Amino acid sequence: MSGGPSILVLGGGAIGMSIALHLHWRGSRVCLLEGGALGGGVSRLGGGWVAAQGRRNPYQLAFALESIAHYPHMLDRVGARAGFRQSGSFLLLETEALVEQRRAFLADQMTVPGYDGFEFLSPAELRKLEPAIRSRHILCGTYRAGDCSIDPPALVDALATAVRRAGLSVEGATVEAIRRVGAGWEVATPVGDFAADVIVNAAGHGARAISALAGMDLPLAPISGQIMTTPPQAPYVRSLIVVAHNPEIPDCPPRDLRQGADGRLWVGTVNHHGSGEAAVRRADTEAIRKAMTRVFPELADVPFDRGWAGTRALPSDGLPVYGQVGDEPFYVAVPMSGIAEAAAAGRTMADLIVDGDCPALPPAFSPDRLKDLPPPTGRMGH
Ligand SMILES: Cc1cc2nc3c(=O)[nH]c(=O)nc-3n(C[C@H](O)[C@H](O)[C@H](O)COP(=O)(O)OP(=O)(O)OC[C@H]3O[C@@H](n4cnc5c(N)ncnc54)[C@H](O)[C@@H]3O)c2cc1C
Repeated sequence: MSGGPSILVLGGGAIGMSIALHLHWRGSRVCLLEGGALGGGVSRLGGGWVAAQGRRNPYQLAFALESIAHYPHMLDRVGARAGFRQSGSFLLLETEALVEQRRAFLADQMTVPGYDGFEFLSPAELRKLEPAIRSRHILCGTYRAGDCSIDPPALVDALATAVRRAGLSVEGATVEAIRRVGAGWEVATPVGDFAADVIVNAAGHGARAISALAGMDLPLAPISGQIMTTPPQAPYVRSLIVVAHNPEIPDCPPRDLRQGADGRLWVGTVNHHGSGEAAVRRADTEAIRKAMTRVFPELADVPFDRGWAGTRALPSDGLPVYGQVGDEPFYVAVPMSGIAEAAAAGRTMADLIVDGDCPALPPAFSPDRLKDLPPPTGRMGH
């Protein structure tokens, strides 16, 4: 039997749906309002990385590890695999300077208890694990076997099915106004008004506007990103591969590659910092192809069949925002890498709301820290 305060989760992306489901599993009275269709936001187009090796900030790294560990349990309860698997992750490095930076990065990471780090591999060792890595530009690579990947469209579809099956959601309910009524809230939408004791703002790129409706400042800046997919290909890579940005090559974005269960290659990513105008652009498509074929020349003739563009929002320290606003019955959940974080975000936010405390959510993630930060620029800090 559900009980306790009534909770409205605003925004039905990977983060809002995971939080709503975890609250439901903990017996809370929860309803999720989504302005469009569940899973129709940026979560559908994420690259699918559920990886720890790229996280330098110790809190973010610990949170990524928590999410990797919790994902199988969440998916068991949802009743879907969504392509989740321990695929391992590679970061490929083209210069000595990048290798040195990576050693310092690892030294920082190893301060996090329980973290097993990553290995440095020579080109021959890289090729043995992943034969597609044979570019003469690659000096060295790092590999973490415990990193995972997931198929983002399958993830959001699975979460949406679970949310609908549990009867938790109202779609087409764009939040237009938020009023304080007594100790709780009233939320106005085109499909009706909703009363709640507690609000969770999980509206992604729309979170800043939602907080403003409640009279709260949430200083986030947009980043729009583009990623491409190919038609299904014969097996090419089994792991996640990122080629680190090489500052010696102008206009070369970091390059990332993953092959989905259906054989499609997901190739990215061009980011536009400070821009909320997500659009698939010819120039970005060309930049992605040029950058990829430098390291994977055999992909030069593989066509793209779909471009994806979306917007996320970040504060100036590049860390996610998870926590309560002061003592208000108002919580914020805006991820940095929401696909990777979705499992941990759902569990920890539900614990925080139900228990009033969650040690896995450090002050470094709190919305209250944002007032002490410089204005956001849309740059990813970590
Ligand atoms: C190109 C690209 C590649 C990426 N790759 C990865 C990756 O490999 N791994 C990773 O972890 N992350 C990746 N990300 C980031 C990741 O996609 C996002 O962090 C994550 O999906 C955000 O989830 P969310 O639920 O917060 O937002 P969303 O999925 O955008 O959900 C927010 C929801 O809120 C709704 N909403 C907004 N305003 C309102 C309103 N006023 N009323 C009602 N509803 C509202 C929206 O309709 C939307 O459905 C990538 C992002 C991009 C752009």
